[in-house]
This record gives sequence, C-alpha cells and structure tokens, in this order.
Amino acid sequence: MKYYSKNARDTQNIAKNLAKTLSGGEVILLNGDLGAGKTTFTKGLVKGLGGKKTVVSPTFTIMHSYDDTRIPVYHFDMYRIADEDELYELGLEEYLYENGVAVIEWNKFSRLPEKTVTVNIVLKGGNEREIEIC
Ligand code: ADP
Ligand code: MG
Repeated sequence: MKYYSKNARDTQNIAKNLAKTLSGGEVILLNGDLGAGKTTFTKGLVKGLGGKKTVVSPTFTIMHSYDDTRIPVYHFDMYRIADEDELYELGLEEYLYENGVAVIEWNKFSRLPEKTVTVNIVLKGGNEREIEIC
C-alpha cells in the first residue's frame, strides 16, 4: 500500500493505522534517508499502541523499549552498528523473536522473521513524503 504524507502528523497517523493491525511478533523495517521520518513514524506507532512515553531516537543506545503499550515495542536504530556480528554479540536478535513488535531503523540483520513488514519512506521535497508499506 502507498500513502502520501504532507506533514509529520500524517506520517504518525499512517503509523497509528498500521499499529491497529499488529498482534505481536512482527518486525517492522523502516527504510529512508536521514530526516525522512523513521523516528516520527515510530512515535505514531507507539502512540497507536497506547504508549504515553515520548519516543526519542535510540541512536546512541541502539534500542529503547516501551512496555506501557498494548504490545511491547522494541525500537532500534542500527546506524552505529558496524555489522551483523555486532548485533549477535550484543544479543539483540532475541528481540526479533519476542511477542512484541521490533521496529528497526537502519536494519543490519540479514535474517528476519516471516512476519516482517517493510516501510519505505521517500522524501518528496519540503514536508512531503511517500510512504509504502509492504
Ligand atoms: P529519521 O528518523 O528518518 O531520521 P525523524 O523522524 O527523526 O527522521 O525526522 C523527521 C523530521 O522531518 C522531523 O523533524 C519531522 O517533524 C519532519 N517532517 C516534516 N514533514 C514530515 C513528514 N511528512 N513525515 C515525517 N516527518 C516529517
Ligand atoms: Mg531516526
């Protein structure tokens, strides 16, 4: 499905709608350039799952978890991860197989569960984005 977003709120609403379809065990890959809106999408997803905490980018800590949500959310930013081995050394793969939802920016895992949803966010200039969920 392709969606058109004209501001950050639209992007959060698209994510909230996706949140309604989640039942746990999903992995959501967020693709898009820096500033595309991957973290903004995650904010909407966490809100859509009932989360009240502010989502902040886990760039330096790699992962933040949210457990005040209908389903636990594990939000990853793998920008600073050198390679997949580092993910295994940190024991991060276990979060892919929990009953929560793993939301991943800059994914570096090569093997992913079957219930993986891909979200491609493309910058269209200004505040416009094209968001494809597949
Ligand atoms: P990323 O995680 O992809 O690097 P962020 O979500 O951190 O991106 O930042 C996106 C920035 O762009 C935010 O400041 C947000 O308010 C702004 N923005 C403007 N228009 C949009 C839009 N349509 N969708 C998402 N973010 C938008
Ligand atoms: Mg981000």
